[in-house]
Amino acid sequence: MADSQQNDATIFPPSSSPLRVTSRELIQQRGISPDALVIVDQAGNIVMVNEQAAALFGYSPEELCKQRLEMLLPERLHGVHTTHREHYFAVPCTHAMGAGLQLFGRHKNGTEIPVDISLRPVLLDDELLVIGAIRDRSEQHRAERERMQQAEQIRLQADLIELAHDAILMRDSVSRVIFWNKGAEELYGWSSQEALGRISHTLLRTRFPGSLAEVDASLEEQGRWEGELTHTCRDGRVVIVESRQMLVCDVQGHRTAILEINRDITERYHLEQAMQAEHAQAVARLDFLQQIMDALPSSIYLVYGPKARLLLANRAAASLWGAIWQIDQPMLEFLATNGIEIFDAHGQQLTPEHFATLRAVQVGETVLQHQETIRRPNGSSLPVLVNAVVLDSSQWKNLTREEAEPTTRHTPQESVALVVHQEISALKEAEYLKDEFIGVAAHELRNPLAVLKGFAEMLVYQTARGKGPKLADWQSEALEEIDEATSRLDKLTEDLLDVTRLQAGRLGLSREFTDLVALTRRMVTQWQMTTKQHIFSLDIEHSPLIVDVDRARIEQVLTNLLSNAVKYSPQGGPIELSLREEFEPHEALLSIRDQGIGIPVGQHARIFGRFVRAENARTSEITGTGLGLYLSRELVERHGGRLWFESAEGEGSTFFVTLPLP
Ligand code: ADP
Repeated sequence: MADSQQNDATIFPPSSSPLRVTSRELIQQRGISPDALVIVDQAGNIVMVNEQAAALFGYSPEELCKQRLEMLLPERLHGVHTTHREHYFAVPCTHAMGAGLQLFGRHKNGTEIPVDISLRPVLLDDELLVIGAIRDRSEQHRAERERMQQAEQIRLQADLIELAHDAILMRDSVSRVIFWNKGAEELYGWSSQEALGRISHTLLRTRFPGSLAEVDASLEEQGRWEGELTHTCRDGRVVIVESRQMLVCDVQGHRTAILEINRDITERYHLEQAMQAEHAQAVARLDFLQQIMDALPSSIYLVYGPKARLLLANRAAASLWGAIWQIDQPMLEFLATNGIEIFDAHGQQLTPEHFATLRAVQVGETVLQHQETIRRPNGSSLPVLVNAVVLDSSQWKNLTREEAEPTTRHTPQESVALVVHQEISALKEAEYLKDEFIGVAAHELRNPLAVLKGFAEMLVYQTARGKGPKLADWQSEALEEIDEATSRLDKLTEDLLDVTRLQAGRLGLSREFTDLVALTRRMVTQWQMTTKQHIFSLDIEHSPLIVDVDRARIEQVLTNLLSNAVKYSPQGGPIELSLREEFEPHEALLSIRDQGIGIPVGQHARIFGRFVRAENARTSEITGTGLGLYLSRELVERHGGRLWFESAEGEGSTFFVTLPLP
């Protein structure tokens, strides 16, 4: 601009009096001026233009000569321009470039061109004209616009910095605070005026993870540093901040300041600390639990979810299976990959829905003393008693080591089961010998018993018919006692023989289609005839219910259950039976409910064992052998059904039997 003013001064000396020129001089001047020149007469007609002017407006000089000056102006300025021109010619004077005449021209293509204009009156052949030197200001305009935008952006950024929740501060090379935003005021409690000029580390009593020197070294070498700092606020509060620091340099690369953005993470930090402590505690508890479990001789493991994924297992579990069950691995996958199979007590392969472990996690059933035989990867078989108990899974949420590691998928909604395997090989051996003995003894008892029973019955019968001398009352009573005792002995030997048959897998079933409704009804009627104290009732939803069973064996089961209901309700009372059809799975469900002495909860687990009787049954002096339930469950399971009960001491018992419906 200074240069161009220099040019103007040469061409048009800064004087208000019109310059007197000839046409020739004017034409010469036109050629040497670097600016666009337009010479206009008083009427507003263009007298002459130079090349630069024509080019600026997009015309050829010929196109402009003798034309109205308005063609070079935007329409909106036409009126103003006419007034200005009249005023100018009334008092002609020199307007230097940049002296306020900033206007807009109009390019041939219609676009507006921002321009600076200097005016100079000239007398050409005594005619007063004006020379306008026009300079294109488009570039300056753009630069100005950009500057304004930049300024706006800087203002915005400054606002943002002020608004930010983070504490943002700048410190100079000796750590004196030179900028302190609202966030810093809010976090630390010092206003910007109070903080400016103070040494930031002293003011905030900064504690570094390492040392200040380390931070400075990192800023020096990498231009930045990130880490956690501890600051003390004005009110004495200690805060932990996540700090990002950056070296700010000028254009020459000289370090001018350090920008520090500090985010308050005190709450998060304490929360994390608490979580870490809790987790460490959980891991410690878990380790302790693991130690206890490992010290136990029985195999113990925890599984979760319907697929029985492993959560935890003790050392004995690995030797039980003869393979390592990986954490989180579903049970069936573990068995399949290791070629492990599970059989029932009679050597029949169990389907997964009968595995005690899966029954617990899938159905929520508590399975006690379930006899299974595990065939291990090396081919050896291991008879075990399985107890699977469903636990309150929400308790396990914080007790899983894997919770900290992302592998576990156990959610509090999924059931967790504790499974304990008790190895019974030695027991099995002893039992085998016992069964052998019982078998032989029962067999040998059978014949003398039959003789005894036969003779007792004959004596009673023949005496009644008058054969032989009449018996005294005490003799008749003694005979009846003998008859009853032999009946009981007979039942015992039959039961014992059944037990040995079952153990040896020699108990065959002769199945035939049988209406369970009719069979139950008949048995209820028979049993009602034996007692007046007990009132039987039978609730039937569907009739008939045809099952494919060994009728005599199912009768045997019902006889056991009905006789128990009567026997263990010595005070009498209702005995309610219900029989209905279930659909998933399709089976008949029979329940027998009494209000007798019940079975103490602590003895539930063992009650299906052989010769097992509840304590209260013994003390009540109710006779029994403890074989009926064992035989009944075995027989029902042989038919593909299930037998279980619900009972509490003094509150009666309900026994349930299911049999598959074809
Ligand atoms: P028992 O010949 O002793 O009756 P079971 O095998 O039929 O043998 O029954 C085993 C034990 O289960 C019984 O001794 C008794 O303690 C208990 N029990 C069976 N049924 C009932 C019942 N309905 N009420 C109370 N206790 C029962």
